[in-house]
Amino acid sequence: MIEAALAEGILARAIQREVLSVHARDLREFTEDRHRSVDDVPYGGGPGMVLKPEPLFRAVDAIREDTGEPEAIVLLSPHGRRFSQAEAARLSGLSHVVILCGRYEGIDDRVRMNLATEELSMGDYVLSGGELPALVIVDAVARLIPGVVGDEDSVAGDSFARGLLDYPHYTRPAEFRDWKVPDVLVSGHHGEIRKWRKRQAIELTLMRRPDLLAGAELDVEEQEILRELIEAKKGVAHGSD
Ligand code: SAH
Repeated sequence: MIEAALAEGILARAIQREVLSVHARDLREFTEDRHRSVDDVPYGGGPGMVLKPEPLFRAVDAIREDTGEPEAIVLLSPHGRRFSQAEAARLSGLSHVVILCGRYEGIDDRVRMNLATEELSMGDYVLSGGELPALVIVDAVARLIPGVVGDEDSVAGDSFARGLLDYPHYTRPAEFRDWKVPDVLVSGHHGEIRKWRKRQAIELTLMRRPDLLAGAELDVEEQEILRELIEAKKGVAHGSD
């Protein structure tokens, strides 16, 4: 699952160019019994199976032998801190990260207490395994590593990079089924285009995700635009014009 997803696109190219290296480990390789079992029934009873601690500890020991002590050992769990762009930025500054993926009912809790250095969650829903969250983390973190995405400006302008949602994008044709691209974008006025994009990003964030604005890093022009938009909103609320 991990290797298939990493065989395509931006991540595959980054791995090929050795900007990034991702190594998936199969827990079954770290078992010692004939059936190579990685799970067992839960103590105390109840449904499902639980991932045994030994294969996970052994897998991390093997990683330590190969590439040294990881800077973070992330356990994926719905109980973790919510993964975000800020978490991605933090992890992108580390050179060696291990991600532990659970399955079944979860993982023996001694792994959380004695092996993991932190716990991350994808959100308030339950997935059947940690592989998809791990891929999400690898993708989001990799985009922030210089040289992975071709154009650095593209990453800097992405949603959440500065606490703002991205502005809307358009491409050719200029008119599609009667729907036109906003005039300003085809005007060729770079100053106007820049301002329009800033306004759109701020307006979108104000309408959809006002919570982001508290932590946003806005330049003077953007602060001015935000003030105008808030004033305009107040005007509407008070019924004045
Ligand atoms: N019984 C557990 C869920 C187990 S799901 C509970 O209710 O909390 C099996 C595995 O999928 C978990 O061990 C975890 O590694 C992964 N997983 C499921 N949902 C996740 C989420 N929202 N974020 C991160 N990992 C998740």
